[in-house]
Amino acid sequence: MYVSLVLDIPTRALDKPYSYVVPPELEDQVGVGCTVLASFGRRDVVAYVVEACTEPPQGVDESKLKPVLGVLAPAAFDRTAAQLALWMAQEYAAPLVDCVRLLLPPGQGTRMQRSQEGGAWELVVEQAKPVDERWAALTEQGRAYEPPRNALRQRQVLEALGAGSLRLAELSVLVPGARTAVNALAKRGAVTVFAHRHVRGTDAATTLSSAQATRPAQLTRGQRLALSEIRGAVAAGAGDVVLVDGVTGSGKTEVYLSAIEEVLRAGRGAIVLVPEISLTAQTVGRFRSRFGDRVAVLHSRLSTGERFDQWDLVRQGIARVVVGARSALYAPLPDPGLIIIDEEHEGSYKQDSSPRYHAREVAAELARRRGAALVLGSATPSLESLGRVRVGSWHGVSWTRVEMPERPGGAVLPQVEVVDLTREFASGNRSVFSRALRDALLDVAQRKGKAVLLLNRRGFAPFLMCRDCGCVPTCPHCSTALTYHERGHLLVCHSCDRSWSVLAYPHPASACPACGSRYLAQVGIGTQRVEDELALLLGPDVDVIRMDADSTRRKGEHQRLLEQFDASPCAVLVGTQMIAKGLDFPEVTLVGVVNADTSLKLPDFRAAERTYDLLEQVAGRAGRGERPGRVIVQTYWASHPAIRAVATHDRATFLDAELADRHEAGYPPFTRLGNVIFTGADEGAVRRASLELALALSDASEELEVLGPSDCVRAKVKDRHRRHVLVKAPHDYALGPTLAGAVAGLGRLSGVSVAVDVDAYDMM
Ligand code: ADP
Ligand code: ZN
Ligand code: ZN
Repeated sequence: MYVSLVLDIPTRALDKPYSYVVPPELEDQVGVGCTVLASFGRRDVVAYVVEACTEPPQGVDESKLKPVLGVLAPAAFDRTAAQLALWMAQEYAAPLVDCVRLLLPPGQGTRMQRSQEGGAWELVVEQAKPVDERWAALTEQGRAYEPPRNALRQRQVLEALGAGSLRLAELSVLVPGARTAVNALAKRGAVTVFAHRHVRGTDAATTLSSAQATRPAQLTRGQRLALSEIRGAVAAGAGDVVLVDGVTGSGKTEVYLSAIEEVLRAGRGAIVLVPEISLTAQTVGRFRSRFGDRVAVLHSRLSTGERFDQWDLVRQGIARVVVGARSALYAPLPDPGLIIIDEEHEGSYKQDSSPRYHAREVAAELARRRGAALVLGSATPSLESLGRVRVGSWHGVSWTRVEMPERPGGAVLPQVEVVDLTREFASGNRSVFSRALRDALLDVAQRKGKAVLLLNRRGFAPFLMCRDCGCVPTCPHCSTALTYHERGHLLVCHSCDRSWSVLAYPHPASACPACGSRYLAQVGIGTQRVEDELALLLGPDVDVIRMDADSTRRKGEHQRLLEQFDASPCAVLVGTQMIAKGLDFPEVTLVGVVNADTSLKLPDFRAAERTYDLLEQVAGRAGRGERPGRVIVQTYWASHPAIRAVATHDRATFLDAELADRHEAGYPPFTRLGNVIFTGADEGAVRRASLELALALSDASEELEVLGPSDCVRAKVKDRHRRHVLVKAPHDYALGPTLAGAVAGLGRLSGVSVAVDVDAYDMM
């Protein structure tokens, strides 16, 4: 038997599988998906089997093949998954082993590690294991059993178990010393002790009413159309894509649930991707309430043990619906009939570390290879998806769009008002709230209603500026403006996490680092400031709940805040983008956007699209119940197409302007964009390497347009310099292999690291 192995050595130079021979005594243990030990050069390495066959590989001298030395872990993935990993490595110019590792069970990795610098290599095995818990229960005889008169403990144990079986751990709390008594009773046949697998990661229940997905009496016309389109794609089994283009609150989740039901009935499984940030108890609850224990949940906020248990539920075939972030794509589900990506336009579907893949593209490839259908859902589909739908097909599979323009039950889309802050300022209003927003908030308070307030500050956290010279304190180790945290008066670097007390920045006296002025003023508004102003405006009868990175740092805090908002009779929820997604509170009638345009000014060609998506999402939080909703958007840039489109509920206003801009500038979806980032402590070395790559790419193909090298927007992070080369290629160009080839051809890069980002999202 012969195998192809992916060696666990993360270097670009080794980016193909290697052939090995399997000795006869190992043959019945080795197969695709196994982790094995193999020798490479003069050392032993961990490797993963991605192919196994009985014929020797062609064009290889069989006698030169080295043997597999041993099996370290049983099969974790199948051949289709292995091939998906090989495809990803090519498509995204990523180290092969980074792609294969995605397929391994959480917390069960195996690797070779040096005990110290230059020391011997040794094998390290992570050991996430299932947890068995021991339980005790009364037997039939036990109910009538009379323990010896002096056996008080036994008597107490019998009494405790009379009410039902208990974990031994619990029993020992109720009856100290219970274990000895249980053993004695077990010997007499009065009690049985059994192991029961404890599954971690099955989130605690939530009190949120909206976490229930009660089946509606009747589907809307749009939902029925979407469902029948999906049914067709599932039946075709060819990886066909259905884009469910439904306004916020149109009932997309119900479409997913019904489609999954049908797929389960046919004996197949389903994968549902949800952006990490909206993987809340509310979202998970809707799936659990419909599919119960058949749901496994996978995301990075779970502990390793929890992730292992959820992964294992899938492998055992118990869970056939996997709900999760990007990583759910790699769950060991052998036969998914359906893959669903909710909020498919979300930037977080692009992974920002190696392998830098986009979950939408990997899902499309996986659906094709598994004979499944791919459903993309959004109220604001990405320009990439809209582009493919317009053409009707992409890489040989069909792309169709179904519209769901209405909300069920006659709920109407909220009315959107735009407040021009330049006028507000001119008329002397210096408050965070315009008069319109202020009045609307007071109105909600008076009617004992609920409101949501968004502070759009992606990339624009509040900072300090010198009123005399305009200088902004930046981190001496990173080219990042320091963020001002009002509580605690700290300046924090969000790149390296260093912080300075304002009174001590940059030196004992809080003076401007450039001109020495003592007059540093705050620019931009923080959530804490808005929280304070709200409390002042609305008084003690209205609960003000703040949700941002700081207030949700601890596990479970996010859910607790939502439950608090849900339970409160009258409340305002104020927060950053994390409040915009997927929240479904029918009592919310007012949504305010404190500053709509901050993210429009970011140096990123997707800035307008992201702003539009965010505003449309957050506006969709209003008026989901019987009462109509109202949205107030404050902006300094009222004429921007993204803002106008949100105000008129007319996506074409935004799309037409945006597509024309992108076409003219040669940006996606009209092109593919690659970004190669060089980082290192030695600025000269970083400059030389980036220049060499730019030249190589210019020579590589006439079809490429090479921009740079130039400094990244974040030109320095943690004392390492950052430069990048941008490449534009035709929209169907195989960019991954070209970039990988060019990077591999670079001379020795001492101290400089290279990151290749195909279809880049983060340009900073
Ligand atoms: P979306 O995901 O499109 O934003 P949701 O799936 O959250 O929308 O649905 C919005 C609300 O409408 C939910 O409260 C849901 O229970 C309800 N709903 C969905 N479908 C129907 C239907 N056919 N009839 C009545 N209510 C529905
Ligand atoms: Zn100054
Ligand atoms: Zn820093």
